[in-house]
Amino acid sequence: EGVINRIAAGEVVVRPANALKELIENSLDAGSKRIVIMVKCGGLKMLRIEDDGHGIRADDLPILCERFTTSKLQKYEDLLSIGTFGFRGEALASISHVAHVTVTTMTSTDTCANLATYSEGKLQGQVRPCAGTPGTTLVVENMFYNNPTRRQALGKESIEHSKVLEVVQRYAIHYPNVGFTCRKYNGSFELTTLGGSSPSEVIATIWGQNLAQELFAFDVKSEEPRFSCRGFASNPNYSSRVSTLILFINNRLVESASLKRAVEAVYQPVLPRHQHPWVYLALDVDPTTIDVNVHPTKMEVQFLHEETISQRLQETLASQLRSAGS
Ligand code: ADP
Ligand code: MG
Repeated sequence: EGVINRIAAGEVVVRPANALKELIENSLDAGSKRIVIMVKCGGLKMLRIEDDGHGIRADDLPILCERFTTSKLQKYEDLLSIGTFGFRGEALASISHVAHVTVTTMTSTDTCANLATYSEGKLQGQVRPCAGTPGTTLVVENMFYNNPTRRQALGKESIEHSKVLEVVQRYAIHYPNVGFTCRKYNGSFELTTLGGSSPSEVIATIWGQNLAQELFAFDVKSEEPRFSCRGFASNPNYSSRVSTLILFINNRLVESASLKRAVEAVYQPVLPRHQHPWVYLALDVDPTTIDVNVHPTKMEVQFLHEETISQRLQETLASQLRSAGS
């Protein structure tokens, strides 16, 4: 059973960045306003995430890293109205099968914090009281210690680090009310947002005025099919050699090859050769129309009405690009 769990977890958690994405989503689900991330060796040696959310009850700690432990799904009908990110209770279990996990957590009614460590999905020893402040700190260490093949398949630590940082940057844009900090273990700060600002302020903080000055906002609403999408997209003046689509669907960071192609197609006639757009897109669709059967850490999604939504988005971007160009 241990081996099977490890293989399943290895398919879900393929690199530190996607473990971190799950941990950030958990912190956001817990209502956190401040999230501090520390990264050692691209997250492979250590990923530490500290939040000021509602914490985890001591009673829930013994089984925290067992599969299907979730506080977010009460009944089947909830599946149809998933308001929070998590709904499968598999992320922590998966992470604890590929790394050592330590949790320190305190709720608002606890008199002290509690500390628990996990390995292979199981609590190690006892839950121990300790000093702390309300919120949760999760430390993930020695990722893939038990899977050298997976470890070797990864890129350099610097590549893993940049992927980790990219996840933090993206959540920082989408959650401008939440303050994010990301730093390396040696102390160097990589990113700090203050919270209580707007996506465009966060974009300016992270990517600089160069990009922030060359963005226009867009907003599309539709009744049939029902969806809304808003975001920021670069003007034709902005030149970048890489194409960026930061996509959140129902507040979940995802990837969609088809939406990315659609966005690139709109820009293709207006950009010089080898230049690419930068787009941040927050799409909200009826939750019953997204494929929820994907793995919790798999980024690529499928959703109904993909074609119609792409088309409406293209029309909006095209008309704004025309007026920007004239
Ligand atoms: P899911 O998010 O799908 O419920 P996870 O494995 O990601 O499953 O997390 C399991 C449970 O652990 C969550 O349902 C939540 O109750 C608790 N949890 C995890 N991280 C946090 C956190 N940072 N703050 C509060 N509770 C947390
Ligand atoms: Mg989760």
